Amino acid sequence: MSDMLRLQDIDKSYPMGEERVQVLRQVSLTVQAGEFISILGASGSGKSTLMNIIGCMDTADRGSYSLDGEDVFRLDARQLAALRNRKIGFIFQRYHLLAQYDVLQNVMMPLLLRGFSHQQAAPLAVESLTAMGLGDRLRHRPNQLSGGQQQRVAIARALVKTPNVLLLDEPLSNLDARLRLQTREEIRKIQQETRVTTVFVTHDQEEAMSISDQIVVMKDGIFMQMGRPQEVYDDPASLFVAKFLGNPPINMFKGEVRKETLWLGDQPVLSVKGVPDQPVTVGIRPEGFILTENGPFAASLSRVEVMGRDVSVISSHPCSENPSVRSIITAETPVDRDAGSVHFSLKPSKVFLFHRETGARIPFSIS
Ligand code: ADP
Ligand code: MG
Repeated sequence: MSDMLRLQDIDKSYPMGEERVQVLRQVSLTVQAGEFISILGASGSGKSTLMNIIGCMDTADRGSYSLDGEDVFRLDARQLAALRNRKIGFIFQRYHLLAQYDVLQNVMMPLLLRGFSHQQAAPLAVESLTAMGLGDRLRHRPNQLSGGQQQRVAIARALVKTPNVLLLDEPLSNLDARLRLQTREEIRKIQQETRVTTVFVTHDQEEAMSISDQIVVMKDGIFMQMGRPQEVYDDPASLFVAKFLGNPPINMFKGEVRKETLWLGDQPVLSVKGVPDQPVTVGIRPEGFILTENGPFAASLSRVEVMGRDVSVISSHPCSENPSVRSIITAETPVDRDAGSVHFSLKPSKVFLFHRETGARIPFSIS
């Protein structure tokens, strides 16, 4: 595989009164040809700023960027526009369709801009729209279509010029839940068929986890962690990343390590080899609890929620940082709903320790 995008040490700031606010710090990213990578971060973390740089619509203060072998920051404005037109398909949260043109004309536009004749562009646009399930909507105006259909027109328009890189900046945010799910599956399917290198921006961790080869977790313009979704979920480098990924979210506790044992209050819940004595922040994934009579983790049972395949046991624990603790167990495990308390043992691979002050991960060996 070859590198399609390579950004190195990108800094970006914007003027704000007399000062400048730093929006991207030391961002480095390599995306290989054919890969699907998601950038995941809260609103304001710098995702769109980064996408605009990747999309050759903005430049950085510092750093370097090569796109398919071209040194982007050395190009002049005309060359940049040409590169953008040739190699990049951009899909935004708002569809940016031209209201006065019909669907077919909208999708033909990028080809006409590249000098294709009408006769050359039309069949390609029809093909692209048909692939998006809009073959019978060619003569409709954008405002005659639903939001989901309009976004599919935008996708067809981005794909019609067979870009080297497809950039999607929160493309599903304006759609309702069902359409969001359906459209994200379509995007992934098309990407797998075309193998177009794709950068997808979202604030929705489930969306990012479900469709990406790689995810990047971003906070305040910094890349916190990058890796395969399962790797990042199973091995978060920091408290921030552990909290960002997972639905339902990870359960947080205040704990203490003494003599290689993790204590929650007066409960010795887990053996943690190799960890020096210290106060810690503890994260336990909802699936990390095993209902065990006399298990070392004891909590007050609040209620049991049946979710079909799984059961959520909601309890409270004096060391919990949240009002309630949520554990997910299989529906086959019997829970005594009338018992006042509930006992668990913990799966060591689902328990993470973090430095109480810095939030950095503290590794321990599972014995
Ligand atoms: P995201 O897409 O993750 O929500 P953005 O990249 O849009 O984040 O914005 C990151 C930060 O940069 C925000 O604080 C935003 O206010 C600021 N910002 C974005 N664009 C500009 C601009 N053109 N001028 C000044 N500040 C900007
Ligand atoms: Mg944005």
